[in-house]
Amino acid sequence: MNVKYPNLFAPIRLGNMMLKNRIISSPAGVPKANTPSSTHYGEISAYDRALGGAGLVINALYGCGLDPDPFSKYGADSTREILSVMKQSGAMAGYSIGAYANKMEDGKFVSLYPGEDPDKFPMKGRKGTIEEFRDFIKRTAQLCVTVKNFGFDMIMLHTSDSSTTSMMLSGWNDRDDEYGGSLENRCRWSKEFAQAIREAVGPDYPILARVPRTLGPIPESHTQEEAVFLCTQMAPYVDGFITYNGMDTYGKTIENYECNVHQQTTVFEPMDYNLSFAKQIKDATGKPVFLNAGVNGGPETPEKWIANGLIDGISMARQLFADPFWPKKAEEGRGDDIVPCLRCNYCYHISTVHQNVQCSVNPRFRRENRVPLELTKTDKPKNVIVVGGGPAGMKAALVAKEKGHNVTIVEKTDRLGGATNYAEYGKYKKELKQYRDYLIHQVEKQGIKVIYNTSATNEFITSLEPQGLIIATGAAPVTPRIKGIENATQILEVYPKLHSLEGKIVIIGGGAIGSEAAVELAEEGKDVTVIEMKDQLSLNENWLYRIALRQHVANCPTLTPMLETAVVEIKENGVVVKDKEGNESFVEADHILYSIGMKSNKDDAFALYGITPNTTMIGDCRRPGHILDCTNDAYFVAANI
Ligand code: SF4
Repeated sequence: MNVKYPNLFAPIRLGNMMLKNRIISSPAGVPKANTPSSTHYGEISAYDRALGGAGLVINALYGCGLDPDPFSKYGADSTREILSVMKQSGAMAGYSIGAYANKMEDGKFVSLYPGEDPDKFPMKGRKGTIEEFRDFIKRTAQLCVTVKNFGFDMIMLHTSDSSTTSMMLSGWNDRDDEYGGSLENRCRWSKEFAQAIREAVGPDYPILARVPRTLGPIPESHTQEEAVFLCTQMAPYVDGFITYNGMDTYGKTIENYECNVHQQTTVFEPMDYNLSFAKQIKDATGKPVFLNAGVNGGPETPEKWIANGLIDGISMARQLFADPFWPKKAEEGRGDDIVPCLRCNYCYHISTVHQNVQCSVNPRFRRENRVPLELTKTDKPKNVIVVGGGPAGMKAALVAKEKGHNVTIVEKTDRLGGATNYAEYGKYKKELKQYRDYLIHQVEKQGIKVIYNTSATNEFITSLEPQGLIIATGAAPVTPRIKGIENATQILEVYPKLHSLEGKIVIIGGGAIGSEAAVELAEEGKDVTVIEMKDQLSLNENWLYRIALRQHVANCPTLTPMLETAVVEIKENGVVVKDKEGNESFVEADHILYSIGMKSNKDDAFALYGITPNTTMIGDCRRPGHILDCTNDAYFVAANI
C-alpha cells in the first residue's frame, strides 16, 4: 500500500472491474499530429498516458453515427491497437460512448434536438421525435455490446456538456411530451439511455456516467441541483459518476465558446471548481464519484479530498498532458517531480483556433515521434553555461543535465525564477507559481550549479570555458514614452504590495499582467480603470483565456476597461486619455500603474556571442512570449547540444 497517498492508491471496485488506484485518465479529443499509430480517433498522447500509471484509461469520445466507425471492417484493426496501447501498463481500458442522439437522413447523420431552435445547438440538426430518440438508444445499446465484446473493460457514458442529456435538461427543451416539461420528464431520456445500456451489457459490466453540472453562463443552462436530480435518475443503472461542467460551442459560430472555459477551466476559476457538485452527487446517489476538471498540481489535494469523503477518485486530462507520469510519480512518493499544468489551454485546439496545439510544459505532447521519453546520455559531456535562471534558463539547464552535460547557471540576482517571481503575489498566478517552484526544486535536486549575484560579462563567461552557451537573459518591462511617465509606476514593482493600494487605480495597458491585476483588485471592490489601445483586453493571449477574462471583467462592477483609448499625458492625480474618435477626457487616479509589454534583453545577449560557436538565445531574450515558447526553445536547444 502506498504510504504517502493511501487513499489515492486504494483499489476501488466498479462492477466486475477492480481499479488499482483512484486515477482515471479522461478521454480528451485532441487533433492528430505526428504521433505513433496508437493515437487514432483523436486520442493523442494515449501512449504516454497509458504508461503513466492511471488505474483506468478512457479513450476519446465515440458514439453511434459518428465517423469513422472504429468497429468497421477497416477500423477494427486500429481499434485493436489502441486497446493494446491503453492496457500496456496494466490500466483498465474504458470506452467513451457519446450520448449525442442522431439519425441517418439522405445518407448523412443529423443531430436530434429536444427543441425547435436548432441555431442554438452545437451541430446541424433538427427537433427529434420520441421514436427517433428511442431508436438512437437502441442503436447505442447495441454498440455498447460490441464495445464489451471487443475487449474494453468498461463504458463511460458521455452524458454531459453538449450531449442529448444536457440538451434535454436545459431550457432549450421546449417539448410538451414525456421528454419535456417537468424535471422528471427532462431526465427521462437519459434514464432510459442508461437503463437500456445496462440491460444490454449485463448487471456486472462497469458503467460510469460523466454528468453535466451546468452548461456554464448561458441563460438556458440547467442548474446544479437539477443535474444532481438527473444523477439520482441514472444511478440505478450505473456504477458511478464523473463530474463535468460547461459545454462545447453553442450555436454554430466560432464566437460562441462562452461555455468551454467552464469545461476546460482557466486560471480564473478555483482548482476545486466541481468539488461541491461531486459531493452532492455522492450524497444523493451513494455511488462513487470521480472529480474531473480542475485537478491541477500534485497529489496532496485529491488525497485529502478522498480522505475527507468528498470524492472517491479523480479523472484528469490536461494534467496528464502536462505530465503523463503523474500517477507513477505519486505512487512512488515523488509528488515533487510532477510537472504542474498551467491551465493555459494551449493544448486545446479551440484556444488557438487549431493554429498551435501544444503543451506549455511538456514538449513531447503531440510530438511523440521526435521527442523521446528520456534523452540518451551523451558520451561526450560538455561544459554548458546557461545565462539566466528564469523559466527558459532553468528548463534548458535541466534538459542539458539530463543529457549528461556539466551545467552551470549564471544568475544576476540572488534567486532563480526570473520574470515568474511576480507569480508569488498574483491570485491568478497560482499555477505559474507551482511551475516556477517545480523548476527551482528540480534544479536543486539535480545538483545543477548556480552562480548567483553575478553579471554575465563576456569576460566572466569566457573564464568558465563554455562548450555550449545558452542565453536566457529574459526581457525587461517597456517604459512608455508618455508625457509625465514619472508620475506612474511599472506594475511589477508594486506587485508585492498590490493589495495595499487604496483609492482610484488606473492601469495603463490591458495585457495579461495588467488585466489580471485589475480583476484581482476590482474583485476586492477597488475602483480600477484599465486603459488599452486595442479593441479588447489581452489580445496576445489565447481565445479561451480572453473569454474567461471577459466573463470575470463583466462580473466586476468597479472595473472599467477603456478600450481603443490612448494615454496622452500622465499627471500626478490622473491621466489624460483620447478615444478613437479623438475625444480627450481625464481619468482621476490615486495610483497610476503601467504594463505595456516587455522588450527582449538583446544587447546583453549579443554581447556574449563569440565566446563559443555553440551559442543560442532562448525564451524572452529572443522574443517575449509565453511559458510555451520558453519550454520549446529550451528543450530543443538543450537536447541538441
Ligand atoms: S498546454 Fe497548458 S493547460 Fe494544456 S496541459 Fe499543458 S500546461 Fe496544461
